[in-house]
Amino acid sequence: MSTPHYPLYIDGKWHDTAEHYEIRSPATEELVATVAKGGVAEVELAVAAAKAAHEEGGWRRTPPAERAALLHDVAARLAGRVDELAVLQTRENGATIRITGALHVGLSAAQIQYLASLAENYEWETTGPEIGPIPAVGIIRREPIGVVAAIVPWNIPLLTTVWKIAPALVAGNTVVLKPDEHAPLLALELAKEFEAAGLPAGVLNVITGDGEPVGAHLAGHPHVRKVAFTGSTAVGKAILRQSADTIRRVTLELGGKGANILLDDADLDIAIDGALFACMANNGQACEAGTRLLVPADQRDDIVRRLVARASTLKLGDPLDPTTHIGPIASAVQRDRIVEYFGIAAQEGATAVLGGRVPPGAEFEKGYWVEPTIFVDVTNDMRIVREEVFGPVLTVLTYDSIDEAVEIANDTNYGLSAGVWGSEERALDVARRLDAGMVWVNDWHVIHPAYPFGGYKESGLGREGGPDALDEYTEQKFISLDRSGGIENKAFAIVIDPVAG
Ligand code: NAD
Repeated sequence: MSTPHYPLYIDGKWHDTAEHYEIRSPATEELVATVAKGGVAEVELAVAAAKAAHEEGGWRRTPPAERAALLHDVAARLAGRVDELAVLQTRENGATIRITGALHVGLSAAQIQYLASLAENYEWETTGPEIGPIPAVGIIRREPIGVVAAIVPWNIPLLTTVWKIAPALVAGNTVVLKPDEHAPLLALELAKEFEAAGLPAGVLNVITGDGEPVGAHLAGHPHVRKVAFTGSTAVGKAILRQSADTIRRVTLELGGKGANILLDDADLDIAIDGALFACMANNGQACEAGTRLLVPADQRDDIVRRLVARASTLKLGDPLDPTTHIGPIASAVQRDRIVEYFGIAAQEGATAVLGGRVPPGAEFEKGYWVEPTIFVDVTNDMRIVREEVFGPVLTVLTYDSIDEAVEIANDTNYGLSAGVWGSEERALDVARRLDAGMVWVNDWHVIHPAYPFGGYKESGLGREGGPDALDEYTEQKFISLDRSGGIENKAFAIVIDPVAG
């Protein structure tokens, strides 16, 4: 079978380029697909198409119910392809097949469906109370913002795409999407479904290209009215700075360093598995992973022994094999970053009680691998504990009191996720004290379309999904309609004398 090739999608047409990317499996390095490599010229074409579709096209004037119907159609199409697209996702970025069906593709379809339903029930135009003493009536309208740039990463590419383009489109905006250059395939497959569902030309455009210059050019484009970004905090900050010049709307979903607190009454049989799931799911490449495990000091030795024993049973290997728990790291660059952190941790005095290296053995000669790793002898000021490693690397900290656990948990620049394991009332009490956008009690990675996803502090700005998702992609307009017929009560009569007569 020949290798599939994916062009770019601009103004309703598939557009090839002279240069191509090779998408290779991070498990085997085999060629999965080739993809057109967009540049600044393609960004210009895509933004112009999106601007024209916004200004001249009818998408923003299409009734919300019709826009929602199109999204329902796309959701159904995606849901019908879960198994096929799950395999493609696994081959592209190495996330295990145990997770790509339900999380990457299934949840994306559910998210589109939820946003379509939200649009059906959204208050696009409401009449407010009488404005006395004028008398006038006020109308509040929600209107699309304009051209939205969506820039997404490689770790959970489809869901992070859907979180942006589904609310943007259903709210009547037009979109230029820039998938990550290492993992663009599912976004391009999604564009095919939008095309098949009849989305008008120019309303959605997809440009795969490098972060620099393509992402930066798109994010700074004067015709882009909003940027929605998921990725590193460094790039998120650059986008925010760049947006100051035109007061562009920005939604950012950045890194995390989730604190996972085991209370002394936690059921350890469950919590140990939960701690490994929190840190190592998606091969440890999740922004909301639980990477700082906080355990009672007097239980540390027992917990670490049990963690190591359990983690040693996790199967590292072929991500397409349903018995595999942990697959490869998505790229050589990311693998090298993690290995660098192994060195930093050692220099800082941390001890690896499990892993801490690239696995030996013939089956790991191809591809990009690290062993699942657990560090002890760490303190909350070490780089291995403060910075996002983005791999299956757990650090174990200790605490003597709940106050101390909360203080350590909140002592971070990030604030995306946290978790607490223990009896419900005590755990909920701790959950309320944690500075994080999402706190899971006795579980982790619970992501649901009806609940907001996003973080405090340097983890981002705004929320994705949840009941307010459409607010992030609309402007509010207040229209006041004077119905007095006379002059006396008009607002201007306060400063301008009424005309005699
Ligand atoms: P990145 O932020 O560089 O890339 C994310 C997206 O932004 C990609 O599409 C990339 O092409 C684009 N991009 C890069 N530079 C840009 C720029 N100047 N302007 C506009 N867009 C730009 O992330 P990375 O290099 O792939 O990963 C580095 C680290 O970021 C990871 O190790 C991890 O710590 C973090 N990360 C976080 C998430 C998350 O879900 N929050 C996802 C991926 C990576």
